[in-house]
Amino acid sequence: MAIRDILFLGNPKLYEESSKVRREELEDLESVFEDMGDTLLEFRDEYGWGRAIAAPQIGVMKRIVYMNVNEPVVLINPVIKLRNRSKTLVWDDCMSCPDLLVQVKRYRRCKVEYRDVNWQKRSMYLEGKLAALMQHEVDHLRGVLITQRALTDKSFALRSERAYLK
Ligand SMILES: [Zn+2]
Repeated sequence: MAIRDILFLGNPKLYEESSKVRREELEDLESVFEDMGDTLLEFRDEYGWGRAIAAPQIGVMKRIVYMNVNEPVVLINPVIKLRNRSKTLVWDDCMSCPDLLVQVKRYRRCKVEYRDVNWQKRSMYLEGKLAALMQHEVDHLRGVLITQRALTDKSFALRSERAYLK
């Protein structure tokens, strides 16, 4: 196991697009999956929140998301599909800027298609907070951060001031 450094806002790598994982890379990426899980749990221990991490957040520019809500799930090459374009407002947070909250719009529901660690095709239907979470993570794979999704120039808040937020 290895806890990796998380890249923080200002690191230019976070704005880069990650590349698709190829099947033949799978074996070499096993340690990356583990490190993403370890890093997420360590972050959660320290900060008390954090449900998912994208590979570029530990400097691995590959399309991988590691989510741990009730159980750990590795999503390789995740793609979001929409049937319904209804959106909702959320104050979003990010492990790459832990003190910052940004109000963004997210689709209320989505389906995510991905490959699992055995290269099997899988999909998940998500709604509410989990749908918003997955859109956030897939944004990371395209080099998009919550700061770029701010609705207005007043859509920023420090976490310490969250009692003021609606
Ligand atoms: Zn994030």
